[in-house]
Amino acid sequence: MRERRCIGCGKTVGKACLVRIVRRPDGMAAFDPTGRAPGRGAYVCSQACLAEAVKKNKLARALKVTLGSDEMERIAVDVASALAVREGKGVV
Ligand SMILES: [Zn+2]
Repeated sequence: MRERRCIGCGKTVGKACLVRIVRRPDGMAAFDPTGRAPGRGAYVCSQACLAEAVKKNKLARALKVTLGSDEMERIAVDVASALAVREGKGVV
């Protein structure tokens, strides 16, 4: 089970190409840098897909949570930096 579906574009891609967002036990959604945090997870493959997923409420639906705007902003920032690292702009 190394492949996951991106909730933004709907493509199934290797887990290594995706960024995971997890619903933590406390019910808050957060970026999951390990990709293995316990809880319901959702995956996106790019910042554009995250934006799309947030805009269309797909992220909240995938995680079955209500996302506050602060929470969404935090996730967007974390995902952006994770993707920047992956694209070689930072240290892996
Ligand atoms: Zn995508």
